[in-house]
Amino acid sequence: MEIENLSVDAVVVGAGVLGLAISRALAAHGMSVACVGPDHTTPGTASSAAGAMLSPISEISPDWDKKGNLEELEFRIRSSAYYADFLLALNEDDGGSVFYTPGSVVIANLVNESDRRTLAAMRAAAHRYGLRAEPMDPDDVPGLRPARGYDAFEALFLPEEGAVDTVQLLRRLDGLIRATPRAHRIDTFVSELLRAGDRIVGARTAGGSLISAPVVVLAAGAGVQALMDGVREACPGLPRLLAGKGVSAVVTGMPMAYPHVVRTPNRDFACGTHVVPRGDGSIYIGATNRISGTPGSADSVTPGEVHSLLHAAMHEINTGFRAAAFRSVTYGMRPLTTDYHPLVGRTPVPGLYVATGTYRNGLLMAPLIADIVSREVRSGAPADDNPFPADGRLRPANPLGDSIAGIVEEGIGHLASFLLEPGGHLPYDRYRELRSFLIALGRVATDEDDSERAVLRSKFAATPMSEIVPQLFYELADRERAAPQDTRR
Ligand SMILES: Cc1cc2nc3c(=O)[nH]c(=O)nc-3n(C[C@H](O)[C@H](O)[C@H](O)COP(=O)(O)OP(=O)(O)OC[C@H]3O[C@@H](n4cnc5c(N)ncnc54)[C@H](O)[C@@H]3O)c2cc1C
Repeated sequence: MEIENLSVDAVVVGAGVLGLAISRALAAHGMSVACVGPDHTTPGTASSAAGAMLSPISEISPDWDKKGNLEELEFRIRSSAYYADFLLALNEDDGGSVFYTPGSVVIANLVNESDRRTLAAMRAAAHRYGLRAEPMDPDDVPGLRPARGYDAFEALFLPEEGAVDTVQLLRRLDGLIRATPRAHRIDTFVSELLRAGDRIVGARTAGGSLISAPVVVLAAGAGVQALMDGVREACPGLPRLLAGKGVSAVVTGMPMAYPHVVRTPNRDFACGTHVVPRGDGSIYIGATNRISGTPGSADSVTPGEVHSLLHAAMHEINTGFRAAAFRSVTYGMRPLTTDYHPLVGRTPVPGLYVATGTYRNGLLMAPLIADIVSREVRSGAPADDNPFPADGRLRPANPLGDSIAGIVEEGIGHLASFLLEPGGHLPYDRYRELRSFLIALGRVATDEDDSERAVLRSKFAATPMSEIVPQLFYELADRERAAPQDTRR
């Protein structure tokens, strides 16, 4: 939809959950707003591909209590507490309620060696923040019927977590904005930000219309980076945004109901396998996770991604998914900053605000972020409860510095996990051995000292490669395992 030129109090760029929630919050405080962006059915929109789990605790990893991780966990807990009122207010207006599923069950199985540690971390975190986390017999988890060999050995019920139906939520927010007299919902892309001196003073739409406003909020998900690039020199130090592509599916025809979310913990790359009931009786299955740039990532769903998603759902959650009917398969680009934390509020550029970097938790965080951004816009000052300000935030230094050995070691740890997908099994203790073997090989390749290479060369000279590989596998893996703890990953 194109428009005549327009003048408003604020332009919000993007109509995913963040753009819509921010537009609504600003309009609720009497501001005239133009929310500019294609609607949520546009391919690549993260919000509509999301399971929309509201997961402060079940999103954590074993290193949850490190600085940075802890701040984000606390922000998720605050976001979760904020949600009840947000939903209540939405559901009070005419126009239908947004379906909410109470409770999440997290299962641990042998697909990933860290599941047990991650569940222990969830229990510890829940205890620390006074949240409920109740052990459950995996046999009692409704809808859990994994394939042989994929049995869950532990389950944790988190009654205060849950999920919303993301499509209903987006439709509802979109409809409310369209019905607000002060708000304009404009279904097009923004091509450029307008500047006057050092200030941002509005936006140009893809059709060439000009919208002037003293405030522009960038909430265009992974699309924020391209818009920021235009004003890059004004905020040179900000962390860059990447796109973490996620594929999900919605199916119908499952013979059982899911009264709660059922999910695995997050694992290296993936965001865990999860099954979420939707308001119309369909079931959402999520999700893959790859930083875009991998083959097929750009603008479609690949067979490999669908295979990985369904393999996990059918083996780890319920073999019955074999006979379900597809309603949709979709993908979204999760906005991810290089320091892994959201970017919220004022930027160093006058008139420019940002709300993104929510990665796996944007549905959960949207109402609280909208409240923070709305307060910063109205006061013009930083909100003292914003833990992720964009003003003054610096791109993190690479923790590995220039160390090639460190990069190889870190990369190989992830490579070993990547090689296990889907399925996750190597016989015996071979996952660890493979990782140790590859790390040891990486060291040989990157070490200044040539003596290791000389030993290897003499082994290869003495024995055919096909015979020496198993021996080397155990030898190098054993040596790596015996290395002092602090030199290991
Ligand atoms: C598969 C998957 C599962 C997920 N599961 C969960 C979950 O269970 N719980 C949770 O809390 N979070 C989840 N997330 C993360 C969550 O979806 C995101 O963090 C959140 O949706 C980001 O919202 P957004 O509005 O910033 O971005 P988006 O939803 O991506 O919206 C941005 C919009 O801006 C538009 N846009 C881009 N460029 C421009 C431009 N120049 N002009 C105008 N518009 C533009 C895009 O087309 C898009 O429509 C999941 C994400 C995925 C992909």
